[in-house]
Amino acid sequence: MNILRNLLLLCAVTSSTIAFAQKPKPAKPTPAPSQEKKAEVKPTPNTNTAKKPKNIIFLIGDGMGVSQIYAGITARKDATNFERMKFIGFSKTASYDDYITDSAAGATAFSIGRKTYNGAIGVDKDSIPQETILETAEKNGLATGLVATSTITHATPASFIAHVKSRKAEDDIANYFLETDIDVFIGGGRKHFTIDRKDSKDLLASLRAKNYNVVNTMYEMNYVKTGKLCALLEEDAMAPYWPDSVRSKDTYLGKEIEVKESRGDMLPKSAQKAIDLLKKKKKGFFLMVEGSQIDWGGHANNKAYVVSEMLDFENTLGQVLDWAEKDGNTLVVVTADHETGGMALTDGSLKRGTVEAKFIWKEHTATMVPVFAFGPGADQFQGIYHNTAIYFKMMDLLGLPLPKPNTTPAN
Ligand code: MG
Ligand code: ZN
Repeated sequence: MNILRNLLLLCAVTSSTIAFAQKPKPAKPTPAPSQEKKAEVKPTPNTNTAKKPKNIIFLIGDGMGVSQIYAGITARKDATNFERMKFIGFSKTASYDDYITDSAAGATAFSIGRKTYNGAIGVDKDSIPQETILETAEKNGLATGLVATSTITHATPASFIAHVKSRKAEDDIANYFLETDIDVFIGGGRKHFTIDRKDSKDLLASLRAKNYNVVNTMYEMNYVKTGKLCALLEEDAMAPYWPDSVRSKDTYLGKEIEVKESRGDMLPKSAQKAIDLLKKKKKGFFLMVEGSQIDWGGHANNKAYVVSEMLDFENTLGQVLDWAEKDGNTLVVVTADHETGGMALTDGSLKRGTVEAKFIWKEHTATMVPVFAFGPGADQFQGIYHNTAIYFKMMDLLGLPLPKPNTTPAN
C-alpha cells in the first residue's frame, strides 16, 4: 500500500518535472521588490529568551505547508504577519504507522507528545489514553480553550481533549467536553451535542448545568463577557471563509467557486473572544486555534479555497500577534499537522496578489512543515525536530509537570 502510494507520488513528481523540462517558461526579469513593507513591521519583543511565557496560543493551520503559506502571503500582496515571528523551525510529521500522517495522529503528537497511528485521538500507539497538554494545563490551574472552523469534535481539536480509538466517533468525542473543565470552546458541530446524537443525550443541557454559557450564534457570543463558553455555531462544520470581495461573485483568482455561505470573520472574532475570556485567569492559559479548512481546500485541489482560508488564517494570526505583543507574556506557536495536496506555486504576482498553483494529488504529503514562534520562549522552536517535540517544548515553557504515562487501556 505504502509502496504503491510512494510510487504514485514519485510518478507524479517525475512526470511534472519532465513537463517542466520540456516546456521551459521564458525567463522573466525579476522585478524589484515593489512592496517594501519592512518599515511597517514593528520591532518585536520576541528575542527575550530567558523569560518564560504565562500563556501559549497554539495556532494550527491544518494542511498548511510552505506553498499554502506563501500563497496566502502573496494573495494579501506581500502580507507580513508570518514575518513577525523571528524563530522558525521544521516539524517532521510522520505518524507511528505511516510516513504520511493524518490530522488525528498529527494533532495527538502535539497534544500528548507521542507518535501514534493514523486516526487516533488522544491515545498512544496501543490505543491507551494519555493525558493531553490541555488536560494537564487545566489540572494545574491554567485556563484552556479550543477554537476551530471544523466541528469542534473533528480530529484536530478533538485530540487535545478526547481519548478515542477512532476520529470517526465524534459523538463519543463530544462527551469529553464534560470530562475536562475546559473554559472556552468555539466551532461547529452542534449536532454531536444535542438529541440528534445516536444516544439522544442532550450534552448542551449538561454543559449549562456546569455553568457554561451555551450559545449558537456569533451575535450571542459577543455578549458573553465572563465565565465559561460553549459556542457551537453550526450543526456541522463552519462554512468556508471567502473574502468580502468575492462573496457576491462566482469566480475567485480565475477559478469557479460556489459561495453559498460564508463564515465571515468567525475565526479572528472567536480567537479574540477566547483570549478575552481566558486572560482573566491569573495562572495563565493554553489556547489552540485551528484554521481547519486549509486542508479541505488542499484535498479538493482547489487553489481558491486554499488561498481564501489562508487569508483568514493570516488575518487571525496578525490579530493574535498584536495581542501577544501588547501582553508580553504570551508565546505564539504556529504550525501545521502536515501538508495537503502537494501544492506548488507555478506563477503569481506579489504586487497584484495573484497566484497560480498545481497539486500533485488529493491526499496529504509527508513533507516537513514550518513552525513559527513569537514571544517568550520562541527561540526554543528553532531547528528540525519531530512533531512530538512541540508538546515537550510547550509543556516545559508553561512549567507543567509531565503526566505519568498511563498503562491502562480504555474499556
Ligand atoms: Mg483539522
Ligand atoms: Zn486532510
